[in-house]
Amino acid sequence: MAPKQVKGSCTLCGKECTRQGMTKHLEKCLHDRTGKTKAEAAPCFHLLVTARNSSAYWLHLMVAASASLKALDGFLRQTWLECCGHMSAFRSNRREVGMSRKLAATLEPGMVLDYEYDFGDTTALQIKVLGQYAAPVAPRKPVEILARNQNPHVPCDVCGKAAAVWICPTCQWEEQGWLCRACKETHSCGDEEYLLPVVNSPRAGVCGYTG
Ligand SMILES: [Zn+2]
Ligand SMILES: [Zn+2]
Ligand SMILES: [Zn+2]
Ligand SMILES: [Zn+2]
Repeated sequence: MAPKQVKGSCTLCGKECTRQGMTKHLEKCLHDRTGKTKAEAAPCFHLLVTARNSSAYWLHLMVAASASLKALDGFLRQTWLECCGHMSAFRSNRREVGMSRKLAATLEPGMVLDYEYDFGDTTALQIKVLGQYAAPVAPRKPVEILARNQNPHVPCDVCGKAAAVWICPTCQWEEQGWLCRACKETHSCGDEEYLLPVVNSPRAGVCGYTG
């Protein structure tokens, strides 16, 4: 069963919003907090990263314009994707964009980048450039989370009641693979040793991803 839309909270002010609501909120919240102290201003991009396979997973990010796509790739791997060092790529209008490119030389507001991790069991993401800001002080890290979806509640495929906490990679294709604690104990398809934990990522249940 696909996870439902869940909210997340703004790391700048704590306000809770849905993904779309957060886009609106951050436009104002960022505007109120940036661009006032021009002398120290560090150019940044506000990005919205979403998963192609589920609208429940999203990240609003602030990324330094001086960072490279490699840095963004590293962040996405660490936060959402890395299982066994698969290949990944950014594309703009279907053309691959090199990892060494700086964001400043690549992005502009309104642009959409496609991203894929693992060209076999692919996790596909879309990256929207929502805005460009002058951060009052240079960000401490090249990529910072402005907001992220909370853990989506996915009900168990078998009993339909309790929250799923394990995924059977074999049975999920028959929509019988997301299991609660109790139903995990009685699961006996023969592949129980390959169960994966339910984690807050669009890659939950894919390859060997454990979060
Ligand atoms: Zn806020
Ligand atoms: Zn893998
Ligand atoms: Zn159950
Ligand atoms: Zn199974």
